[in-house]
Order: sequence, then structure tokens, then C-alpha cells
Amino acid sequence: MHSRTVAIIGGGPAGLIAAEILIQDKVQVDVYDSMPSLGRKFLMAGKSGLNLTHSEPFDTFISRYGQRRSEMEVFLRDFTPEDLRLWARELGIETFVGSSGRVFPVGMKTSPLLRRWLRRLAESGVNFHLHHAWRGWDEDGSLRFLTPEGQTSVHPDAVILALGGGSWAKLGSTGAWVEWLREAGAEVQALKPSNCGFDVAWSDHFRTRFEGQPVKSVILSFRNFRRQGELVITKHGVEGSLIYAASALLRDEIEASGRAVLHLDLTPDRTEGQLIERLSRSRGSRSLSSHIEKTVGIRGVKAGLLREFLPKAELEDPVHLARALKHLPVPLIAARPLDEAISSAGGVSFEALDENLMLRAKPGVFCAGEMLDWEAPTGGYLLTACFATGRAAARGVIEWLRRSARDT
Ligand SMILES: Cc1cc2nc3c(=O)[nH]c(=O)nc-3n(C[C@H](O)[C@H](O)[C@H](O)COP(=O)(O)OP(=O)(O)OC[C@H]3O[C@@H](n4cnc5c(N)ncnc54)[C@H](O)[C@@H]3O)c2cc1C
Repeated sequence: MHSRTVAIIGGGPAGLIAAEILIQDKVQVDVYDSMPSLGRKFLMAGKSGLNLTHSEPFDTFISRYGQRRSEMEVFLRDFTPEDLRLWARELGIETFVGSSGRVFPVGMKTSPLLRRWLRRLAESGVNFHLHHAWRGWDEDGSLRFLTPEGQTSVHPDAVILALGGGSWAKLGSTGAWVEWLREAGAEVQALKPSNCGFDVAWSDHFRTRFEGQPVKSVILSFRNFRRQGELVITKHGVEGSLIYAASALLRDEIEASGRAVLHLDLTPDRTEGQLIERLSRSRGSRSLSSHIEKTVGIRGVKAGLLREFLPKAELEDPVHLARALKHLPVPLIAARPLDEAISSAGGVSFEALDENLMLRAKPGVFCAGEMLDWEAPTGGYLLTACFATGRAAARGVIEWLRRSARDT
């Protein structure tokens, strides 16, 4: 028989892994979620290949958490990327390491994993309460939920909030909790887009011709950031893995100074000197476009980018053109809205939490997952951290329940 009750609000990866730990400790576990089904963002993450974690050495892995590296290291040492792969294997889901070092389930999708996981949780006794939208606390400290049948309140012995960030609100994580936690006295940093696209003031001509096109194998530089990869031209500006990787820096620069200018090397395989030599060759009767294509292989969207940002006179000059090919400035005017982002930065400050992820302002209430104030690039770092903090919060609850049982 269960003697203690724990409510977990949020049935994403962080909440579900917490439920898994707690049910093994013989407490009653109730998972509440506002949506009609669980793990919707987790499922979305698997739409174009579920990148569960990353296989790089742990020191490199942990460096991806930037300013929050030291806070996250504690949780990630306790549940490493390798542990996550083992966990998936125990569930019957084998994983593999892709060419970039990223780790995926063999079938690439979330649904088989989530289905098995939810079945295992239900069989081990976890109770699921769908269509339960948490709306904060009643005056007596009970959790207030809105359900299709009306309002209801519960008063468990401990609570884990695993409410996610604020992106893709239609999947359930709306970020509405920020105000309720602040009212409860917890420090919460404003949610901001992370792994997001940016607005560029494209000309109508460029937008119409190149919207949706990938710009492949370019080097993006911004301050100390320099990486080769791929981006995509969108109606509003730019997005894609290379942009996401630099997005925290770009977003912060725009926040501080109103704009950010990234630079693209459109020809990583040629030096500026080689480009000048080739572009200076006789053009004969060729048009400028075909001369550029013939001599340095630039056409399509890359040629479009040059024309978008380079005055015509500079395009005609081999030295200026070569410089632009290696160092094309692309001015960004704004980050795309939070709702479109892959993940959120900001959230519950680590200073508002004890070492077990319990809110100092609300004893017995723990937080986990993307709603905590950390951010990381795509590459499996997001999910690994959600799993690791979900486990840590569950362990914290177990310890807290034991301590309060001893004290009473
Ligand atoms: C398109 C896309 C692709 C992604 N791909 C990857 C990837 O490949 N690899 C990776 O590592 N990460 C990826 N992510 C990010 C990853 O999915 C999230 O970081 C992760 O799901 C966060 O887990 P979580 O449990 O903290 O929150 P969530 O998964 O957001 O779950 C939060 C849950 O809380 C519920 N909830 C919120 N508010 C309330 C409330 N008031 N009352 C009741 N319930 C509530 C929500 O309905 C939701 O079920 C991707 C994200 C997106 C959008």
C-alpha cells in the first residue's frame, strides 16, 4: 500500500522519468497533464529523427551547457548519455551513433519508445490524469486544476513540476506557469527563444526566389563562434542547424544592441587568394553570373545572397567579391518568436532551487526539465538534460519524504 502521494505535473520526458523513479519507491504517483495525451513535444522531436543524446566525450558534452555547465554537471554525471542509451535498451529500443556523433533510436521515431514507456509506467502503477490543466495553488496550498468537468484540487505530499518551456505552445507547454511560480516567491528568468531562427530584411525578389532553399556547407562566424554546416532561407530570414547552434549568442547580441551581424564563408574549400586569382581571369563575353559560376562555382541561392548584400560595383571587382565570398555579412534584426523555437532559454533560476531541485520558496515542490534556467544547442543535449533533471528531482522527492517522515 502507498503511504505517500506525489503529483507530477507535466507528462513530457522529465515528468515521466520522475514517475518511473518514484513508483519504484512505492509512493503513489499521479501524473497530470493538460493535454489529451502525453509526451506531445517528445513525439514532435522524433518527427525528423529523434536525437536522444550525443556520443562525444563527457567533457565536451558538458561544455554544451555553457554558463550552466557546473549546475548541470551534477545531474548529468549521475545520468550520463550512456545511461540514457542503456535505459532505452532496457525498454527494448536500440540506439545508434550517427556520423555526427549524435545518438538516435534505430527506428528514428519517438512513438515506439513512448508507447512502451507509457505502458510500462501504467503497469507499474503510475496514475495518469489527462485534460488536467494546472492553474497554480489554492490558498490552502492545494494544487488547482481545470478539467473538462470543472475545477478540482489535490493536496499531495510532494510535487514535481515538469511543465516544459514556452515553445510550440500547441503541444502543451505554454509557459503560463512563470507567473504562478513568481507569485509563489521563486525567481524565474523570462523565457526566451533558444535554437531559433532569425529575421532578415530580405528583398521581395530574394524571398520569392529562395524561400525554403538550403544553403549548404558554409562557415558561420560570429565573435568566437565558427562552424561549418547548413542553414535554410525562410520567408522571414534564416533557420536550420547552423543558425540554431549560434542562436544563443545571436539572440543575446540582438537583445543588447538591437541587431547582430553574422558572417558567412560561402566557399570554405577555397582561400581568398585562390578566389581572387580565379575571379580575375578573363571574362570574355560571359555575363557576370556565369563568370562567377564558371570560375568559383557559385550559383543559385549563394549567388542570390551575394547580390542581396553586395553593391553591384563590388560584385564586379574580384578583390571585393572574393572578400565577400569568404566573409559575407548577414544582418539579423530579430530572433523569431518563442513559440517557433525548438527550445526555451530562461526559466526557474538555479538560485531559487536547492541541490535537489526543490524550490526554496515552496518546500516539497521540485522542478525539472526544460522549465529550468539552462539552455543547450540541438544534438540530444536537451532531452538528456530533461531526463537527468527529472531523475534528480524524483530522487530529491524521495529524500525529502523520508526526512519529513522522520521529522513527524
Ligand atoms: C520540433 C522540435 C524538435 C526537437 N527535437 C529534439 C531532439 O531531436 N533532441 C532533443 O534533445 N530535443 C529536441 N527537442 C526538445 C525536446 O523535445 C524538449 O526539450 C523536451 O521535450 C522537454 O521536455 P520536458 O519534459 O521538460 O517538457 P515537455 O516535453 O514540453 O513536457 C511538458 C509537459 O507539461 C505539460 N504542461 C505544461 N503546462 C501545463 C499545465 N499548466 N498543466 C498541466 N500540464 C502542463 C505539457 O502538456 C507537456 O506534456 C525538440 C523540440 C521541438 C519543438
